[in-house]
Amino acid sequence: DIYGQKRKNSLGVNVDIESQWQTFQQKVQGFMEYDWHQGPWVDGHLAQTSEVSEVSCPYDRSQLAGHLRWSDDAQVDTAAGVAVAAFYKWNATPAEERAQCLERLADLLEDNREELVALCHREAGKTLHDAIDEVREAVDFCRYYANQARERFSSSTMMPEPTGGPTGESNELRLSGRGVFLCISPWNFPLAIFLGQVTAALAAGNTVIAKPAEQTGLIAGRAVELMLQAGIPGGVIQLLPGAGAKVGHQLVTDTRIAGVVFTGSTETARVINLALANRPGPIVPLIAETGGQNAMIVDSTALPEQVVKDVILSAFGSAGQRCSALRVLYVQKDIADRVISLLQGAMQELSIGNPSLHSTDIGPVIDEKARQSLQSHIERMKKEAKLLFECELPAACSNGSFVAPVAFEIDHIGQLEKEHFGPVLHVIRYDAQALPEVIDQINSTGYGLTLGIHSRNEVTATYIEERVKVGNIYINRNQTGAVVGVQPFGGQGLSGTGPKAGGPNYLLRFATEQTVSINT
Ligand code: GLU
Repeated sequence: DIYGQKRKNSLGVNVDIESQWQTFQQKVQGFMEYDWHQGPWVDGHLAQTSEVSEVSCPYDRSQLAGHLRWSDDAQVDTAAGVAVAAFYKWNATPAEERAQCLERLADLLEDNREELVALCHREAGKTLHDAIDEVREAVDFCRYYANQARERFSSSTMMPEPTGGPTGESNELRLSGRGVFLCISPWNFPLAIFLGQVTAALAAGNTVIAKPAEQTGLIAGRAVELMLQAGIPGGVIQLLPGAGAKVGHQLVTDTRIAGVVFTGSTETARVINLALANRPGPIVPLIAETGGQNAMIVDSTALPEQVVKDVILSAFGSAGQRCSALRVLYVQKDIADRVISLLQGAMQELSIGNPSLHSTDIGPVIDEKARQSLQSHIERMKKEAKLLFECELPAACSNGSFVAPVAFEIDHIGQLEKEHFGPVLHVIRYDAQALPEVIDQINSTGYGLTLGIHSRNEVTATYIEERVKVGNIYINRNQTGAVVGVQPFGGQGLSGTGPKAGGPNYLLRFATEQTVSINT
């Protein structure tokens, strides 16, 4: 635990980590009573609307995080017009300047870290540690895409490289923004994925209309305020909080939208895809990052203690509300009893409850709807599967939307008709010779996001790796928490279209290409 130690930094100076942590916590605490007011940002101004809702904290519904104004139809229409008008100038702004805007935004996120941590905690119910990671990831996205913009968008490419064409002509391939990009972001990474989408679109030269998740509009609004402070022009970023079925639908069917990036459920991705296909006007790209039915395969050479540590983190960390989270654990029969008994012990130690306490492992799920849907799955599993362990919810959890981490033993992945986005783990035992069937089962779901493998046998690991169709594979470690620029993230099949967020090919999908041939 680094928080309780005095350490020397790389220059040999004593660093009092404990007091730094306490100062940080005190500053975060100072924002806990705050009443944030946010709403639509159109052309650099916080628009006034009649419909305002109170935003309550997921861990205690009697507490308010703030007030959110919802966009009305006229604002949606105005925002699209403003974003179209701002496109030419922003797209013509040198990539270097766009990159600098994103770097100033990264600095501002760091300067306002305590407030953002408090806000992620209050509005999205994040534990302090998850909220700190969230801000860190948002900063990483800004800096990474700023660098990508510099590298890829600063100059055109001469074709064919490196000496020019054989015809005496000069041929250039230029990248530019596509127009107005619609960014539809999820509540589970209300700052990091929100800014990841938006900064990628901006870096490539697009103007942006952002439609944040209904549950986390305050965080998105505060992020937009910081973007404007960083020097991003008001016409370039529009924020429209509202319901997906209303504001989202109005935007997706608006022919001024030149591309959509979406993170959320597979069902919603299909709805967006269909709406885009049926509208008149240009054919535009959809970048979708959706759900998963993520598995981990553990063979008999794995270290059970390490397996259980990584299972706990992957299945229950962030209350299981990551699309990368582990849902189905396949354990080879020979070590299954040992792994399950260690797992039961580790689950017993989990501390569930108030996410502002340093000691809390598992906070709430996002809202009552999520809680009820998870609870009904758990009730069904209690009838149809074998309960391995269910954590106890402390009495203090009754004011919020909490789900106790739970593990079941099932026979086949097909028993889970869909992804259950919360702290529910399903365990399946398999015979060594049935490994090919395990792989078939996993592939049969059609999802392909993350896969964990625990094996000290390289041949087995390679055999699995080559056959399971997923976007991110993690061997002998947990399978969540992809790092920007290190583990480019995104799936295939029902899990998404690619390209991978935080990877070198992401910005290209936000861009259009133009070839210019000059007869010299
Ligand atoms: N990138 C996150 C991770 O690696 C998950 C993103 C998501 O849940 O959408 O855990």
